Amino acid sequence: MELLIKQSTFDLLKIGIGPSSSHTLGPMRMAQAFRHRLLELELPVHKIEVVLKGSLALTGEGHLTPNAVIAGLLGLDPVLSEIEKIQGATLEVERNQGFYLGERFLSANVEGLVKFDKVLSGLRHPNTAHFFAYDANGQVLLDKECCSIGGGAWLLAEAVKPAGSRTIGEKLSSNAILKFCHENSMSLLDFVYAQEELLTKMTRIEIQAQLKKLWHVMKQAVESGLEQDGYLPGKLNVRRRAKRTRERYLNRSSQLQKAIPTLAKANIYALAVSEENASGGRIVTAPTCGACGVVPGVLYLLMEELKLLDDAIADSLLIASLFGNIVVDRASISGAEVGCQGEVGTACAMASAAACFLSGGTNSQIESAAEAALEHHLGLTCDPVMGLVQVPCIERNAIAAGTAINSANLALLGDGDHLISFDRCVDTLRETGTDMSDKYKETSLGGLATTHC
Ligand code: SF4
Repeated sequence: MELLIKQSTFDLLKIGIGPSSSHTLGPMRMAQAFRHRLLELELPVHKIEVVLKGSLALTGEGHLTPNAVIAGLLGLDPVLSEIEKIQGATLEVERNQGFYLGERFLSANVEGLVKFDKVLSGLRHPNTAHFFAYDANGQVLLDKECCSIGGGAWLLAEAVKPAGSRTIGEKLSSNAILKFCHENSMSLLDFVYAQEELLTKMTRIEIQAQLKKLWHVMKQAVESGLEQDGYLPGKLNVRRRAKRTRERYLNRSSQLQKAIPTLAKANIYALAVSEENASGGRIVTAPTCGACGVVPGVLYLLMEELKLLDDAIADSLLIASLFGNIVVDRASISGAEVGCQGEVGTACAMASAAACFLSGGTNSQIESAAEAALEHHLGLTCDPVMGLVQVPCIERNAIAAGTAINSANLALLGDGDHLISFDRCVDTLRETGTDMSDKYKETSLGGLATTHC
């Protein structure tokens, strides 16, 4: 079989820390890589400076970007390090008035370490960070300009192509995949497993085991989020609501909840994960941190209601990631590049495809579910109030979990035949994102973000 998928499921679904994949996870990874390179080259580093540019500068503070960068420079890892250590990285540097780079102690304060340049024009990508290492004479020993391209992934600036300039020729295509599956009498699941085996050189059993680990982290995020009360970090003073909402739900106070009981559960589970994310907790990017509540919200509900085992849920994650990867390849999952349609819209498509698959949908019904879910998020802007991944983000995840179920239901009631293909919908997302004003692309310069608090 020819390898069609260029990015593995495990490059899309990654264990990470909140609140933002592009503004927290990606920058932390970049800083880790810069530190690693400096240690490898054994340079006589005296000082490090990181300039956050564009959207990373405009909403970085609310997204905890400076702390993420500092944590990466300290050598902490988003998957392996304790959450408390990551969250306390800035305090650690302030307390010690510096940090160790291998054997070398670098005196530093936070203001000198992380700087902001809020100009958006002239950047290869709106989420750019420039890392500098200086010697004792102030000469630059090494500098790297890096871009956080969405979902926690990053590239050196020179390797970045803007979403609007990409040609569509050989891009990953749901039409081509459906055709291939039809001609070879293959299910989408078998197709994605076969592709993943080629890409990762793992066996099907090993791939499923990895997927179950991701599902385990997702479940933990739901369960932890349901236990927490109190306020989320940041000046908005947003009170967590997943726990309280669930208590109200269990009392079944509203007629509407009695009529449609399960939908509310998806909302609540999505809220729980999104609140974990907003508090800097551990989540799985699906496809991003800001949109990480939708897929687990829907899957946790289906696990309970359909009595699903982990194997089935793991398989559904593979289906979900196929549609996420099509968006990565044809457009973007970065709010700073295409708005929230690329984040929550994509998450909704992924969750809907997974739900349709778990309910026995055919290949074309699954594609139809993903398409409907994404289509009705087209044009959705990214305008986080005070640059925090809280309002509108958390509630948006909850609503999208409901939309994912609706879209899957609608697809299951049809025969898979529909006018707009998922490919066409993603191409429209890319075009709409390119035309969207920068005000609505994770800069907090327009829309709801200008609400006076
Ligand atoms: S509005 Fe959407 S894209 Fe923007 S930060 Fe919130 S979740 Fe992410």
